[in-house]
Amino acid sequence: MPVQRVVTIHYHLTDPSGKTIDSSEGRGPFSYLEGAGQIIPGLERALSLLSAGQETTVQVAAAEAYGVRRPELVLDVPKTKLPQADVKIGDRFRGGPDEHAPVFTVIEVGADTVKLDGNHPLAGVDLTFRVNIVSMREASSQEIEHGHSHDGGHDH
Ligand code: ZN
Repeated sequence: MPVQRVVTIHYHLTDPSGKTIDSSEGRGPFSYLEGAGQIIPGLERALSLLSAGQETTVQVAAAEAYGVRRPELVLDVPKTKLPQADVKIGDRFRGGPDEHAPVFTVIEVGADTVKLDGNHPLAGVDLTFRVNIVSMREASSQEIEHGHSHDGGHDH
């Protein structure tokens, strides 16, 4: 088994139009444990080849990121079936009691029904990550046991 590392990065994520989707700027760097599935696999692979201080731009196709959009996850639902009567565009609901059930976003509100979209907001979006590797170090045995980095504090 290869040495597992904790990688700390600054990143800037944009969509194909150049719009910023997410960024670590102003929030402090982000740390992840290699091999723990905490970041998109294609991005993790590309970053694993770099070392501290290096910068790179990684393009990740939608299918390799949050998946392609699935039209069958767009549903018309009677308002009476919703967890609350009064909804507006942008409200979000989990599609069932299971914590892994898809989250639906209200995209249209009609008189008796609402249109819900169960696609991830980034489904179908090709992503561009601009990444600066802040540091890479060997993970501690406790981090490997827990499956996450303990940088940035840890309260368990
Ligand atoms: Zn922990």
